[in-house]
Amino acid sequence: MDGCIFCKIVTGEAPAIVVYEDDLVLAFLDIRPIVAGHTLVIPKTHSATLDHLDPDLAADVFRVGHLLARALRRSELGSDGANLLINDGRAAFQTVHHTHLHVVPRKHRDIVQFGIGFVTRRPRGREQVAAHIREGIQRLNAEDAQ
Ligand code: 5GP
Ligand code: ZN
Repeated sequence: MDGCIFCKIVTGEAPAIVVYEDDLVLAFLDIRPIVAGHTLVIPKTHSATLDHLDPDLAADVFRVGHLLARALRRSELGSDGANLLINDGRAAFQTVHHTHLHVVPRKHRDIVQFGIGFVTRRPRGREQVAAHIREGIQRLNAEDAQ
């Protein structure tokens, strides 16, 4: 859709650090991460809110969120869990109006770090973080293939 930053990322008109891609779904690092590894999963087809998102595509988005949450646990980022979240609509503080699933890695007792990150939202070592996530996906795929 014209003027949608996430559609521009899908077409390559806008930059993003992509960690996962298939025919239907794209996942890339959030530009203002709460913590290292904060990733956004989007359907490649534009839909502003869940109200307009095809249910099968919603399942595909969650499939990739699930993959990332598992991959993060296996990555050098060393997550112990993750928050998966969709802000659906302005009422829910959605600011980019192309549906997206946040995947935010969490560690045991990270509440202070999480709180600081929630305020500062400063990216650090983005390419390295992305490499860790991609490696986590490879580890997961190898494990699942056994
Ligand atoms: P929302 O509040 O809509 O759920 O969150 C939108 C998210 O998109 C925010 O976390 C914000 O940092 C992220 N974001 C906004 N613009 C861009 C962009 O151009 N590139 C990337 N990678 N993330 C973006
Ligand atoms: Zn869009």
